Amino acid sequence: MVKPVRVRFAPSPTGDLHVGNIRTALFDWAYARHTGGTFLFRIEDTDTTRVTDEYIAAAIDTLRWLGLQWDEGPEVGGEYGPYLQSQRLDIYAHWAQKFIEQKDAYHCYCTPEELEQRREAQREAHVAPGYDGKCRDLTAEQIATYKGQGREAVVRMRMPDGSTTFVDAIRGEVSFEHKFVPDFVLVRGDGSPLYTLAVAVDDILMKVSHVLRGEDLLSSTPRQIRVYQAMGVALDDYPTFAHLPFVMGQDNAKLSKRNGEVSIAWYREAGFLPEAICNYLALLGWSPGDDRENITMKELTELFTVERVNSSPARFDMKKLEAINGDKIRALPLDEFLAWALPFLTKAKVISGTPEEIAVVKSALPIIQERITRLNEVPAMLKFLFVKNFAVEAESLSKVTDAASKDVLKRAITELTPLTVWTHDSIEAALRSSLIEEMGLKPRIAFGSVRIAVTGSTISPPLFESMELLGKNASLERISAALAL
Ligand code: GLU
Repeated sequence: MVKPVRVRFAPSPTGDLHVGNIRTALFDWAYARHTGGTFLFRIEDTDTTRVTDEYIAAAIDTLRWLGLQWDEGPEVGGEYGPYLQSQRLDIYAHWAQKFIEQKDAYHCYCTPEELEQRREAQREAHVAPGYDGKCRDLTAEQIATYKGQGREAVVRMRMPDGSTTFVDAIRGEVSFEHKFVPDFVLVRGDGSPLYTLAVAVDDILMKVSHVLRGEDLLSSTPRQIRVYQAMGVALDDYPTFAHLPFVMGQDNAKLSKRNGEVSIAWYREAGFLPEAICNYLALLGWSPGDDRENITMKELTELFTVERVNSSPARFDMKKLEAINGDKIRALPLDEFLAWALPFLTKAKVISGTPEEIAVVKSALPIIQERITRLNEVPAMLKFLFVKNFAVEAESLSKVTDAASKDVLKRAITELTPLTVWTHDSIEAALRSSLIEEMGLKPRIAFGSVRIAVTGSTISPPLFESMELLGKNASLERISAALAL
């Protein structure tokens, strides 16, 4: 019988989600959508010292913002919930207890100091580090002594001799010798479960069919398989594992804070569209089979297969992401572009959000749509239309106060004042014939001075369109004011 596809994204939000997490979530989502399966979102928050409610809320918000809607998980619910591991502690306790009764697991009373001492000895003797099995077969007497000493016990899984082999859907057959997979802790001394226990129990109980996750978790797989065995899970009911290649930084080291990794929250504030992030990340380690660089979410769900995930690491390239973001911005219908741009303008206090201001923004957006690669460029581009006490930026002042610029500005006033029709065409025609043809100036010089006078800055949307939007009176007032500087 073919198992229904159930894929999960299971972050431990110990900070804001980052590029690697999101690429995993995207592939999980795309695989579920491609197969008509179910996409589960599970929060792995058993490490209460590091996971906070704030990070959990941010993770939920980020996934929603990206459009990676889950079918089961926080806020949505589902048949196999709850989907926050902190709400499932009794389930893990039940299994840990069962494993002890079955003798698959045992209480270990070694103190952290003792473990460290023995690890040190292992290092010196050049043997593989890890738990040496000291508490595996304690007598009732020994246990009583340890308890009498007030020692706390952890629960440890017994790893039998031998090896674990499984087929990874991306890297093929993978084997781990158990001498490198020592007995591992399932439950801490305070009774809280560890990741390995919770993740394995949940993947089974939630009937997860495919575990697509980062390569960093490959080495935890034999431990999870050991938990499945102790749970008595039939081989056919093990999930299929697929470990996604690392995302590397430009320096070819794993992407990290050190070489450019930043949280998705940063990309959001910097004005990247979720569709651009998903488009770019989709192509990071996966290929649709051709060399296209633009892919929609719909196409991704149609084309995504695990077979096309590359097993070698992918390199993160910010320039490429920016180029894709620019493409996606250009492709936005005006109303959507407006909806994306407005929060950036209000946050930068360029507008307060009145209907009049929004109408001006709407008329101005088409002239900058071709020119920006990030939404956070919008405020600087449009602020000249809204500033109350207009002034030329300090760093541009010298470019309008020299004698040549003054000649340009004087002539511009002479030519523009009589215009009865104020459109970018009429403005351009007037300025071209006078400044370029008659005065013989280079466009960059001539229009540069007018641009600074009118917009206050060298960065602005196209000049003639800007002047049309600003209106004749304001444009002429600003040129006159610049002349008086
Ligand atoms: N919660 C784990 C982590 O964020 C991932 C769990 C998994 O995908 O197996 O590292």
